[in-house]
Amino acid sequence: METNFYDYIVLGSGVAGLRAAIELAGHGRVAVVTKHFLGESSSEYAQGGVAVALSDDDDISLHIEDTIRAGDGLCDLKAVSTLVEEGPKYIKQLISWGANFDMHGSLLEFTREAAHSVKRIINAKGDATGHEIVRTLKEYSGTFKNIEKLEYTYALDFIKDSPKSVAGVIALNEKTSEISLYYAKAVIVATGGAGRLYTRTTNPDVVTGDGLAMAFRADAAMRDMEFFQFHPTGLTIEGAPAFLLSEAMRGEGGVLRNIHMERFCTKYHPDGELAPRDVVSRSIFFEMQTTDSKHVFLDLTHLDKNFVKNRFPKIYSTCLKYGLNICKDPIPVSPAAHYFMGGIFTDDWGRSSLKGLYACGEAACNGIHGANRLASNSLLEGVVYGGRSAIAAVNDNNEREVRQQDISIGEPISISDSQEKLEVIQKCMWLSASVSRNEERLDNAIEFLTQFLEQFEGKTPTDRNTAELENLATVGLLIATAAKDRKGSRGAHYREDYPDRMKDNWHIYFENAQFSSIKRQK
Ligand SMILES: Cc1cc2nc3c(=O)[nH]c(=O)nc-3n(C[C@H](O)[C@H](O)[C@H](O)COP(=O)(O)OP(=O)(O)OC[C@H]3O[C@@H](n4cnc5c(N)ncnc54)[C@H](O)[C@@H]3O)c2cc1C
Repeated sequence: METNFYDYIVLGSGVAGLRAAIELAGHGRVAVVTKHFLGESSSEYAQGGVAVALSDDDDISLHIEDTIRAGDGLCDLKAVSTLVEEGPKYIKQLISWGANFDMHGSLLEFTREAAHSVKRIINAKGDATGHEIVRTLKEYSGTFKNIEKLEYTYALDFIKDSPKSVAGVIALNEKTSEISLYYAKAVIVATGGAGRLYTRTTNPDVVTGDGLAMAFRADAAMRDMEFFQFHPTGLTIEGAPAFLLSEAMRGEGGVLRNIHMERFCTKYHPDGELAPRDVVSRSIFFEMQTTDSKHVFLDLTHLDKNFVKNRFPKIYSTCLKYGLNICKDPIPVSPAAHYFMGGIFTDDWGRSSLKGLYACGEAACNGIHGANRLASNSLLEGVVYGGRSAIAAVNDNNEREVRQQDISIGEPISISDSQEKLEVIQKCMWLSASVSRNEERLDNAIEFLTQFLEQFEGKTPTDRNTAELENLATVGLLIATAAKDRKGSRGAHYREDYPDRMKDNWHIYFENAQFSSIKRQK
């Protein structure tokens, strides 16, 4: 097996990974290990924008309050304050590196989104914000010679040099199927969420929970796995992906109507279309059940047509491809899996429970989002916590003699009908552990996923699709197990058999690589 030595390894090339790599560049040799091609990530497709308390009408305390309200009381105040207070500095830095955000004259232009009390969201080219940030970070990171970008390199598992310490990564070359070892004094996980677990998702194909499953297998503590956010408005057209129709479309005056063209959101919440995401998703879900339909409509037809076209150019052109003119036609929409609040448990410097292992961005659970993420906070989280976890990786005492371990690779396993298996897992999760959950369906999911995972015991996947199936099933089982344990509703986790809001402020943790290591703790 080929063996490589670096000072630092970053897994993933979305906003969080690229930002972390830039911070590390002054401190040694850095490898950005990324599956597929550089920058293919949720970050690339983020539309709505970045929430940052930079406008004259805004205040740090307001942004903190809005974040905590959306998180339904389960946010960590220190982590939220850090995000919001450091956000302006990190965004100004991005601008200095060449990011072009939309301007009003010489000032940044701010828009408003659901659950934000003021106009606080900055955008790039209307709805191409993620692309602009990724472009900037790719270009800027390219100016550092000691950052090596290893594309089509799929991280399989961590190398450990003691039960509580990570010393590198085992990775698969997607093109040659060769397995190589990458050693470093610290590894930063920035592999994003797990949206591909569900039949309907806004996430791109690369988002398969790999870093989460790897961390769990390595004995890192995981937290808040029951909290998955479903975006209310994914495009719902036969044969089309659940393309995201940004929150900003409702922020700018778009309304939701049922299939009888009646508005319905205020029946479920006084804030109507601008209620928190989980509330709007459930409202749509219940309205679809009541009207026995597969979608509702997002209607912008009453807004100025030029404004709509200019404000949402990417959405306008994408919908046009499917025969919909959003200026004239109501858009069929329904909820889709969007953002994972749970993940690798970290402190507010991205430190996991294992020495040498850090996590940032969507893969981390640092307490910013609580039971439900406030819209547009995650790009900000990516830059702020990408930077912070790298600073911690450098400053912590990670120096040790990094030496080769006896790595035992298990029997090879490759699943030939991986696409069919993927669809079965996605359907199982969609039916059992999505917008609305109950004990019986969660039990079914737990039984199915437990059995599915048995085939991987002692085996090492020899291809990316097989590894992704194992990782998705692992994360799915963590979600279903935690969702079963939380017998009550809170934030994005809704139990139809326990619909009342749970008042106690505890979190669910998995302490080590056993599904039975689940425990509740404040
Ligand atoms: C359609 C869409 C719209 C969104 N809009 C917004 C918005 O407007 N504002 C906002 O704040 N947030 C938005 N979000 C959420 C936000 O984009 C993400 O939460 C955030 O970008 C996550 O960044 P990340 O760097 O943590 O992960 P990602 O951007 O998902 O990057 C993960 C990286 O890890 C790599 N990777 C994964 N597994 C492996 C492996 N095994 N080995 C090697 N590499 C691996 C991937 O290839 C990818 O490069 C949106 C998300 C989507 C999908």
